Amino acid sequence: MIQENIQTVQANIAQACRRVNRDPAEVTLIAVSKTKPLSDIEEAISCGMTDFGENKVQELLEKTEHVTTPVQWHLIGHLQTNKVRYVVDKGFLIHSVDSVRLARELQKEAVKKQAHCNILLEVNVAKEETKFGFAYEDVLDAISEIAPFSNVHIQGLMTIAPFVENPEENRDIFAKLHKLSLDIKSRNIDNVNMSVLSMGMTNDYMVAVEEGATMVRVGTGIFGTRNYMI
Ligand SMILES: *Cc1c(COP(=O)(O)O)cnc(C)c1O
Repeated sequence: MIQENIQTVQANIAQACRRVNRDPAEVTLIAVSKTKPLSDIEEAISCGMTDFGENKVQELLEKTEHVTTPVQWHLIGHLQTNKVRYVVDKGFLIHSVDSVRLARELQKEAVKKQAHCNILLEVNVAKEETKFGFAYEDVLDAISEIAPFSNVHIQGLMTIAPFVENPEENRDIFAKLHKLSLDIKSRNIDNVNMSVLSMGMTNDYMVAVEEGATMVRVGTGIFGTRNYMI
């Protein structure tokens, strides 16, 4: 089941790339394994998956401890400042930096641990009250505050688009984030790399790829529906 699902998602990504003349190699598929058992992760690894996403620190740490194959882990859920010390030196890509205060805390802990930390800035493009993330208008100011941090490195932007029936409804959101990343890139700011655009989930990853996503975060589409009893 997992193997078929991965093949389907990869084929869909390739097709979306073809529609807009992109190279599928530009798009990293992150398997979002939250709530799923280690055996599912192992199965996905055996199918060639190299990137996994978790949204809770505790669950992420438990899983990284047990998965011995070297894979790239992504923290995609909200990070509280009091948990920064657990994640800052683990080589995770942290997609969910949503305040300057959090970035400052990452910097402080990274310096203390002599580590370096790669982050994305989460942008609440759709202005949903229930979601975390910088307001679109505030991203440039945030970048000018975070860029000077010696041990924290901005690699790009991330957004969680609204849940919609028709993924086309999110196209403008993805296009807007892409435009912002190009604008930032053109400014050539020291210690700011805009190579990552993390957007698109099971429901809308194809549209996100058409609009320039370099990372898509797919959970249900790979592992099936989640069991929140865990
Ligand atoms: C759970 C989650 C996903 C994956 O969602 P699916 O709809 O199951 O693909 C992607 N991104 C974030 C931030 C998530 O929390």
